[in-house]
Amino acid sequence: MKRSPLVVLTLLALFASPAVVQAARNCGTCAKSIKGRYITSGNKAYCSQTCFVTTLDECDHCGIKLKSRYITSEKKKFCSNACLESILPQCEICEKPLIRRHTIKGHVFCDLHAKSPRCTACQLPFLRGGELPDLRYVCETCNEIVIYNMEEAMKLFRLARQELYQITARKSRQIPKLKIVGRDRLNKLTNLRVDQQDGMQLNGFYHRTETTRTSRNGFGKTTTAKKVEKTIYILYALSPDTFLTTAVHEFTHDMIAEFFPHLDGLPLWAEEGICQYVAVLLCRKRNFSEQLESIQTSPDRIYGDGYRYFEKKLGPNNWSGLLQWMKRTDPKKLPAAAPK
Ligand SMILES: [Zn+2]
Ligand SMILES: [Zn+2]
Ligand SMILES: [Zn+2]
Ligand SMILES: [Zn+2]
Ligand SMILES: [Zn+2]
Repeated sequence: MKRSPLVVLTLLALFASPAVVQAARNCGTCAKSIKGRYITSGNKAYCSQTCFVTTLDECDHCGIKLKSRYITSEKKKFCSNACLESILPQCEICEKPLIRRHTIKGHVFCDLHAKSPRCTACQLPFLRGGELPDLRYVCETCNEIVIYNMEEAMKLFRLARQELYQITARKSRQIPKLKIVGRDRLNKLTNLRVDQQDGMQLNGFYHRTETTRTSRNGFGKTTTAKKVEKTIYILYALSPDTFLTTAVHEFTHDMIAEFFPHLDGLPLWAEEGICQYVAVLLCRKRNFSEQLESIQTSPDRIYGDGYRYFEKKLGPNNWSGLLQWMKRTDPKKLPAAAPK
């Protein structure tokens, strides 16, 4: 048998006690018993508009009570587009409020600006900046501090030599020549040695040639003279911190050649790994956090894997451990690729 709703209501009125009816009609906010007209929402009743409105969520920006229509974004609620946009992160270049954002090194950009050219020094897109002769870009801020001229470069170059000496207690007597070059020139030089299929961009290069001349003197005795030419190439428009880190890396190549001749013929990963390990010692000492991170997280299988091999083997800040390794190691016994 099917009962009509009217019948059910009548039955309730007959059997329910008055207390139960009263409890069901208390205001969900002020708890006063409700008489006459009231508002329901969910399964609660409210005595007045004021009591009802206090139960509503507030706009996460302006605090206004949210009526039936509102906007949600990342678990927050907003009364209007204006309120939503006011809390959205803005593109650091065009200041557009962003629902979809690109984060580059902790900075936020819109689609367009995330794709625009990036500064060679800070690696960020920029509002004002310029193109360099080697087709890299530099932003206006970095342009003030990056190294262009030989005088500034030489100061840091000498400092790097000093830093390497403090870290390793080794300093070669013949200081390499310094040449400041563009990306085009540096890529040509490094392509002689490094297969850059991983897209690794180098900031410096150590070049060394040894020539031996044999001559016979008037008494028929032979004399041999060894001539060593050493050049460190460093990319222009590096920040001072990156310049110093790069120079210490390149000076480490020089130190290996001068003080550990038995390591001639080290696989590239081991040679570069040693240089990066020493560069990291400098970064820690000087709190160069960006340079440190870029060395530690490099995906390159020579520079990145090489560094991580030594980090894993020696732990951090272990020059004496590295020194022992260099003294004991026979380069011919090392694998061609960095062990992982
Ligand atoms: Zn109330
Ligand atoms: Zn609002
Ligand atoms: Zn933008
Ligand atoms: Zn920059
Ligand atoms: Zn190197």
